[in-house]
Amino acid sequence: MVDDEELLLALLNTTPTVSGEAHDLLADPETARAWLAGHAGEDALGEDLALLRSTRDTLQALVHDRATPAALAPALHGVGYRPVAGDAGLTWRLSTPPGHAVAARAVVAWDALRRTAPGRLRACENTEECTLFLIDRSKSNSARWCSMAGCGNRMKARRHYERRKNTR
Ligand SMILES: [Zn+2]
Repeated sequence: MVDDEELLLALLNTTPTVSGEAHDLLADPETARAWLAGHAGEDALGEDLALLRSTRDTLQALVHDRATPAALAPALHGVGYRPVAGDAGLTWRLSTPPGHAVAARAVVAWDALRRTAPGRLRACENTEECTLFLIDRSKSNSARWCSMAGCGNRMKARRHYERRKNTR
């Protein structure tokens, strides 16, 4: 089980662009179930896929400043925080109706992140080829690519090529 921030990022990154082609890992029920099992565990297999997809689309639009948080309302329908008593005191647990857990956890994580680490969740700067997102956890807040190995290297190579072209 991954933490909710990782779950949020994984959900945002279910629409990768591979060799110029757009993919949606949640588009068909079979790949969606495999994704759910891998990222949220077997308990999440009953997740409402249409709601999950639309919540993801809204979260992606929010990162791009193309939506308002009010659009997240369907994912939070019937969701609450429930205190659970234990030996060390009360702990608060997210309680979600069946089929909503993954969408609700991602939305709550998105809100927590925007309050505790504003601007840290953003789109990869390789916007021409890449549709992935990143959460910048660096001290300098200077991460620009979804991954250094992928887009980071591609962008560096391209800049190098353009520099050489321009100095010729
Ligand atoms: Zn990228």
